[in-house]
Amino acid sequence: MSDEFKTLKKFDAGNGREGFLYSLPALEAQGIGPISRLPVSIRIVLESVLRNCDGKKVRRKDVETLAKWNAKAPANEEIPFVVARIVLQDFTGVPLVVDLAAMRSAVQELGGDPKIIEPLVPVDLVVDHSVQVDFAGSAEALRLNMEMEFKRNRERYQFLKWGQQAFKTFGLVPPGIGIVHQVNLEFLAKGVLSSKPETGNGKPEIFYPDTLVGTDSHTTMINGLGVVGWGVGGIEAEAGMLGQPVYFLTPEVVGVHMTGKLREGVTATDLALHITQMLRAQKVVGKFVEFYGEGAASLPLPDRATVGNMAPEYGATMGYFPVDSESVNYLRATGRTEEQCAAFENYFRAQGMFGMPRKGEVDYSIDLELDLAAVQPSVAGPKRPQDRVNLPELGAVFRSLLEKPVKDGGYGKSNGDLGKHHFVNLNGTPPEQGEMVSTDKRDQGIEPGDERNKVEMVANRPTPDSVQEIEAKPGDTFAHGQSRIGHGSVLIAAITSCTNTSNPSVMLAAGLLAKKAVERGLTIDPAVKTSLAPGSRVVSDYLQKTGLQTYLDQLGFNVVGYGCTTCIGNSGPLHPKIEQAISEFDLVAASVLSGNRNFEARVHQNIKANFLMSPPLVVAFALAGRVDLDLSTEPMGKGSDGRDVFLRDLWPSLQEIRDTMQSALTPEVFQRLYRDFAAQNPKWNEIPSSTGDIYQWDEKSDYIHEPPFFQNFSMEPGRIAEIRGARPLGIFGDSVTTDHISPAGAIKPTSPAGHYLVSRGISAVDFNSYGSRRGNDLVMTRGTFANVRIKNLMVPGTEGGVTKYFGNRNSETGETMSIFDAAMKYQEDGMPLVILAGHEYGTGSSRDWAAKGTRLLGVKAVVAASFERIHRSNLVGMGVLPLQFADGTNAQTLGLDGSEIYGITGLSDTIEPGQMVTLEITRQDGKRQEVPVKLRIDTPIEIDYYRHGGILPFVLRELMARQ
Ligand code: SF4
Repeated sequence: MSDEFKTLKKFDAGNGREGFLYSLPALEAQGIGPISRLPVSIRIVLESVLRNCDGKKVRRKDVETLAKWNAKAPANEEIPFVVARIVLQDFTGVPLVVDLAAMRSAVQELGGDPKIIEPLVPVDLVVDHSVQVDFAGSAEALRLNMEMEFKRNRERYQFLKWGQQAFKTFGLVPPGIGIVHQVNLEFLAKGVLSSKPETGNGKPEIFYPDTLVGTDSHTTMINGLGVVGWGVGGIEAEAGMLGQPVYFLTPEVVGVHMTGKLREGVTATDLALHITQMLRAQKVVGKFVEFYGEGAASLPLPDRATVGNMAPEYGATMGYFPVDSESVNYLRATGRTEEQCAAFENYFRAQGMFGMPRKGEVDYSIDLELDLAAVQPSVAGPKRPQDRVNLPELGAVFRSLLEKPVKDGGYGKSNGDLGKHHFVNLNGTPPEQGEMVSTDKRDQGIEPGDERNKVEMVANRPTPDSVQEIEAKPGDTFAHGQSRIGHGSVLIAAITSCTNTSNPSVMLAAGLLAKKAVERGLTIDPAVKTSLAPGSRVVSDYLQKTGLQTYLDQLGFNVVGYGCTTCIGNSGPLHPKIEQAISEFDLVAASVLSGNRNFEARVHQNIKANFLMSPPLVVAFALAGRVDLDLSTEPMGKGSDGRDVFLRDLWPSLQEIRDTMQSALTPEVFQRLYRDFAAQNPKWNEIPSSTGDIYQWDEKSDYIHEPPFFQNFSMEPGRIAEIRGARPLGIFGDSVTTDHISPAGAIKPTSPAGHYLVSRGISAVDFNSYGSRRGNDLVMTRGTFANVRIKNLMVPGTEGGVTKYFGNRNSETGETMSIFDAAMKYQEDGMPLVILAGHEYGTGSSRDWAAKGTRLLGVKAVVAASFERIHRSNLVGMGVLPLQFADGTNAQTLGLDGSEIYGITGLSDTIEPGQMVTLEITRQDGKRQEVPVKLRIDTPIEIDYYRHGGILPFVLRELMARQ
């Protein structure tokens, strides 16, 4: 390693170890900038830039610019950030390993050594996104769901096992262990890392802060531990693995000065929802947020992690908490070695970065205040995480939304619809007949049991006792009895998401509330699909140890899997009768979940109102069975003594939670559960794996397929040229999410991907999700823009992935067809494509297939009113041009309906980041219009990526040239 600034200094790494570090105080002493007044997050990035300064990839100028970071006017310069490691989840990780495998194949074809394709920094992939809640509400649910998961994902898991043996720096945490960010927090993160000195080589052991990027937007959970890291697209992560710095523009840093303490009855989830709303309003997109002050110091580390986790929801790149004694105590409490803890503390002390900053000690771009005592119990929804609702107001908010017109964001139901209910018989004994009575029929005096209402039950309902004897089917809820459902009925109640499952206080609060509910004799309606998906086995350990899991089980919150489940939309099917009732009566049913995303159709395709909340509130609303009430004043049910039971009767005190926690959490539990994963997972061991440096692609596989990114690859990049004669493939409004562009959930049999899978002999029950088929470009390209809720304004009044195909200039038929079919026809016509969109295009989780699929459909440019950060860079990373309309301009103001022909002029090899180019529009009547648009290639390196056709060809050419 070079030492351009002569800052390499010795320090005491603790436990008798002598270490070296690239000293920021020494850099400041050179008068280079006011480093000790920089936000801590910026200082950590600066350390990476300083340490990796080699005059080539990282230049002296990069160090100087960042050291002089000006809070009020940060330089508009790109920072080359070399991260210490990378984390992946399996949905995004599999395609990334597929790309690495494809690059190895390409190198071999070009006559090179395939081993030049190897991650240069440690990579950990945690398999957490594939488990679905097919079974719930039973002691057998975990086993049955895992069986389904392994059956569905065998090919992917085989492939990952190949990757594990082919790449040296690639670690894998198999399914059934936990959720990536929680595993990162509890196990993978080290706080500080060091270069391992080879024995006798005389090289010093150099320490540096743990930093990372992850292929999941909620990577920011780790910010709670003082680790700098955030979510990037798979494409950027791939470049990072292959030795490229992650480039980003010098950010503004928003300082949130926290004072006070959370009040009794207020949870970390309430705080996270409060901060999400507050920071959304402050427009922190693309900025770092740093929490500090005595309020931040008073927050336990899991609370900090919960707040950090939701950074994507408030739009920030990070939600960072500086390192202090609480951070070190957390490492110790979670079983990290004394050596690690000492090195962590000593390193940060030596760098002058230890301890929570107080007001005035650090310069921030924007100063905000937050009094923790002002935070109130809350939920957020029904469609966006930033739409926080004070708990007492939920009923009124829901009722008003129910009646509000659809165009104003409501559900357009009439006054009085709320009181109507429909009866669904879920009784499993005898199971042959079930019934559903509409309110209208009940008004006519028709009651359940009336012959006129008998409808056939779809399947026998297994009972909990008989589950071993019978073959259970997906959707089985093991429920009994008759349910009454209507608008506002809670049909999914899920304790899910690392956001909350990593936080013992809210998980124990859910258990304590369940205990009190059971003791009062409350039960949950069988129509509610209840589930508990811990983010690690540590959660189960403490819920078991405290005896609370028993009560959760009694209410149906049995463990369904150790993974993302409902948080990612893997909520599994509802009871068929319930699904039937929802669609027959067009019910606005609700889900309550401790997740962080609630976009339409994310949680479940048929559940329209989705509310995010803390785990104890999930249990409370499941007990109440509806969301149209005020839990602070209305009872949630009647106890076995016939008396009303209120939320305040069941809510555990902070002291109760603390006492329970102290008795249950020990470092030994973490050490035991995070040891030798493979040995603890026999199912994983049973999976056979192929060996060798090159993957043997199997044409029979419908999960893993060699992508066409390196077909006809040559060592010479192309030229940047103007785009002419393009047709629009879609015109979209605001807030089109990556889930709209590339859905992760269920594959509809009638969709292009569904047709394709059927043509391959796969039946619908085995389709699995889009997320799980991301290793197969043939499925994913067909799934692009295939979300059932996406609205293409070219085909007004429709939902789903349809468009109008206008053909070439001479045949403007405007035929309606699927987006995939139209794209393929345009490819045959030799016509390039564009997408037009509104604000926040590509918002939501980072999803590289949203960019890859766009590229493979033949889209050359996306013109939007604004872009989400990661999706914009992913588009560039795939060689698709992002362009931005001027403020106030969009497809509607221009009166575009999709029948036009488009050109983009002003593009050449000499383009500059952010320059203006021209969108040329030719309407059907031949009229032409020129609209100035901004090139959203933001940095010089992105120009290179674009010229090369994306990051992957760029990196491949670099590595081949180095051979
Ligand atoms: S639980 Fe949710 S937030 Fe956490 S990794 Fe899974 S999908 Fe992302």
